[in-house]
Amino acid sequence: MCGIFGAVTPGSDAAGIAALGVFSLQHRGQESAGIAVSDGEQLMLYKELGLIAQVLDERRLPSLRGPMAIAHCRYSTTGSTVWENAQPTFRLGRNRSIAIGHNGNLVNTRELLSRLEGGKTRLPATTDTELLTALLADDPADDIVGALKHVLPTVQGAYSLAILDEKRVIGVRDPFGFRPLVLGRLETTEDDPEGKHSGGWVISSESAAIEVAGGTVVRDVEPGEMVILEEGHEPVSIRFAPGHEQLCVFELIYFGRPDSYMLGRNLYESRRRMGVALAAESPADADLVMPVPDTGAPAAAGFAEGSRLPYREGMVRNRYSGRTFIQPSQHMRQRGVTVKLSPLREVVAGKRLIVVDDSIVRGTTTRQIVALLRKAGATEVHLRISSPPIHHPCFYGIDTQIETELIASTHSVEEIREFVGADSLSFLSIEGVLSALDLPYDRFCFACFDGRYPVPVPYDTARHKFVLEDADGEPVSRGELGELRHE
Ligand code: AMP
Repeated sequence: MCGIFGAVTPGSDAAGIAALGVFSLQHRGQESAGIAVSDGEQLMLYKELGLIAQVLDERRLPSLRGPMAIAHCRYSTTGSTVWENAQPTFRLGRNRSIAIGHNGNLVNTRELLSRLEGGKTRLPATTDTELLTALLADDPADDIVGALKHVLPTVQGAYSLAILDEKRVIGVRDPFGFRPLVLGRLETTEDDPEGKHSGGWVISSESAAIEVAGGTVVRDVEPGEMVILEEGHEPVSIRFAPGHEQLCVFELIYFGRPDSYMLGRNLYESRRRMGVALAAESPADADLVMPVPDTGAPAAAGFAEGSRLPYREGMVRNRYSGRTFIQPSQHMRQRGVTVKLSPLREVVAGKRLIVVDDSIVRGTTTRQIVALLRKAGATEVHLRISSPPIHHPCFYGIDTQIETELIASTHSVEEIREFVGADSLSFLSIEGVLSALDLPYDRFCFACFDGRYPVPVPYDTARHKFVLEDADGEPVSRGELGELRHE
């Protein structure tokens, strides 16, 4: 996944707005955070493992001066979680220096590595983004726009990009638009006597972050489009490829913030409607409906509404237990899901529950949740999942790349029910998802549900995430590709 945010704020420093924007995208990646700024002459970069509030804090931001900035939070899909792989990337090239924040995942990474000049070139990191940065920074074109026009047609896979060079911020979205990217405007505010917020333009993974940063949403960046933001200019749009949008439907089901909009749909409302559709498809006789917090809540509200059953919160979520780059201690690991979620005995004891969640990936969390609810006294647990079973890995930016780890790739619905220990289990159908969204199938990528991949994935999938690393996690060079191919 990953969150990206870029800002051009003529006459003032952009770092604060970019940091605020990416802070609102923290849910998209919690492994590392970073920012790159330009003062018009040179770029400055700061990145670190950890959460945005820790990395981009009040002490750091004032030293990052300049009216252009991009910021990023990472959820890894290619390359390990190490400092070198944090973003934005940075490279001082022949004709320019650039920084990139990337949301998505490329699928022809090896082929791209073989294009890199000099067989012995070793990249400083092992991400597909580092590779793309090298290709763009070293391209002989006069400017970054020329380099993008040259390089992007050779790149396959999912990429929404925030790019910074000395003079501009550029938002780029791949021709399929797998990942979202939104353009927004910052108004000049009258209640700002010091004139600190002098207007400008922003790009963001999600619309909600633009609003939190004080801007207004203008439109989606189109698939196959780049939008160039420069001081003193209106945004310039260049189409580098014909677009056919196939947005990741999982963005609407799980990833995006409920207050964001995608394809004109509010995500809270979409999820609530998925819950209504699920209640119609798979009703159950029970005393109450409860969500797996937090992301299951909108669908559970819809299910309760659709089934005319009471809605209760039967579990409490620890707000501070998000995914973190720090490995939990042995003691915390032993406590499993209870560190994150604890049942409300008063609500669930003696009750027949309908428990609604948005997805099952590996099944391990769900299994623990069912056990916790039973231990707290629930008499029946009927699981209802507001998405179809995830049968296939994602290669376009979600870290579900190993097929055998997906429980639905090897188990039937009945076998999953048995594994998680529920009394009944149902998933929403693809048709149910589409009816809730009121949009046609071909607007979305449903590959994780039905295996129809819009962009073919050309090589051995098992090593996908670590395609640019050797066995010790060190970067591979172009010269070593032959050996890897014969693994
Ligand atoms: P499990 O039972 O282990 O498959 O976990 C299911 C839970 O994981 C659900 O509550 C989902 O909301 C959540 N989930 C779905 N996709 C992801 C993801 N990519 N990263 C983290 N959690 C996820």
